[in-house]
Amino acid sequence: MRTQVAIIGSGPSGLLLGQLLTNAGIENVILDRVSKDYILGRVRAGVLEEGMVSMMERAGAADRMHRDGLEHDGFSLAFDGRDHRIDLFGLTGKRVLVYGQTEVTRDLMDQREASGATTIYSAENVAPHDFDGTNPYVTFEREGVSHRIDCDFIAGCDGYHGISRKSVPEHSLTTFERVYPFGWLGILADVPPVSHELIYANHSRGFALCSMRSASRSRYYIQCGLDEKIEDWSDERFYDELRRRLPAEHAESMVVGPSFEKSIAPLRSFVAEPMRFGRLFLVGDAAHIVPPTGAKGLNLATSDVFYLFEGLQEYFSEKSAAAIDAYSMRALKRVWGAVRFSWSMTTMMHRFPEAGEFDRKIQEAELNYLVSSKPAATALAENYVGMPY
Ligand SMILES: Cc1cc2nc3c(=O)[nH]c(=O)nc-3n(C[C@H](O)[C@H](O)[C@H](O)COP(=O)(O)OP(=O)(O)OC[C@H]3O[C@@H](n4cnc5c(N)ncnc54)[C@H](O)[C@@H]3O)c2cc1C
Repeated sequence: MRTQVAIIGSGPSGLLLGQLLTNAGIENVILDRVSKDYILGRVRAGVLEEGMVSMMERAGAADRMHRDGLEHDGFSLAFDGRDHRIDLFGLTGKRVLVYGQTEVTRDLMDQREASGATTIYSAENVAPHDFDGTNPYVTFEREGVSHRIDCDFIAGCDGYHGISRKSVPEHSLTTFERVYPFGWLGILADVPPVSHELIYANHSRGFALCSMRSASRSRYYIQCGLDEKIEDWSDERFYDELRRRLPAEHAESMVVGPSFEKSIAPLRSFVAEPMRFGRLFLVGDAAHIVPPTGAKGLNLATSDVFYLFEGLQEYFSEKSAAAIDAYSMRALKRVWGAVRFSWSMTTMMHRFPEAGEFDRKIQEAELNYLVSSKPAATALAENYVGMPY
């Protein structure tokens, strides 16, 4: 088989890149090691920047998102027992859209099927080859048969645990990492959200986040120790702990109900540099991870796709490599901005096990500054709605 761009990974970055390429008449094949149903069963991000919304529009996959997504003009920082609203729209003229990553993925898969482009699910032992030369190819196995796809470029959209980054010689990669000493215990439940906007709570018992997927589906998180076990957290215990960390008005009005998903996610910041190795490009989580506190993971994957698509389009239409040569530098600049923001939100909102009274006072002072200074609140809001591509 031959194609122009072989894409490893059918998560949001692979699907979005594939759709933009297909729309531009550039052939591509997507390979994923798991099944379509498995991918659609994953529950992940849910806050989309305007840049991501416009990329979904460019992909032609935005109709359901516009119909069902919830536009949010602001969010709450809760501390000292009360809410302090950050007026995103008033401060920046921009909003965010709450729409689950699972739905983004479903819309992109539907669009891909409608346009007839090839996706190969349940592909085993996918491996990129010869990407340091001019004739790269990807091999994989399916139902015991070996296959090879020759291509011009390979896009490694296969997430943090994928094969693309691992295929790069170690000496060519520089990695940066911060592992945080806590995780997030999260639930999904079909109960109306406690507030129509997100609440990020800093409390002496730890961080909490009240988010949602729709007007009838809530996504709630609490900071937890890395040694916590899900089986020790009944729904009742989870809601009790969440309520303790929220201002009284929310704790009292919260509607509770059985969760249908419960998981613990560790928090880390990770960046691999550069993001290009000859004809192999790393995209999204394959190159970087951020803690979810800033709601940036999915949005960063999208800006990578934006830069790479521009590069590939220019290469195939104008025979110029200028934009693909600039891919890594352009993407990393935005990545580090979001890594910084996610780190600062995480540091400001969580209780660190080693932190003392001094650190707590600094957190309090920072939060008070943010909600009493318009320039400080604007800087927060500008980062939250997303820096321009
Ligand atoms: C549990 C969890 C919760 C999250 N919550 C949030 C959140 O609240 N907010 C936020 O902004 N971000 C969140 N994120 C991050 C966000 O989901 C990611 O940034 C986003 O999924 C990145 O998309 P991606 O396409 O780059 O990678 P992925 O979504 O990871 O997709 C990679 C794809 O590659 C496939 N793959 C992997 N290895 C191979 C291989 N060897 N061969 C072939 N295919 C392979 C995988 O099956 C997968 O389909 C969360 C992530 C996780 C894991």
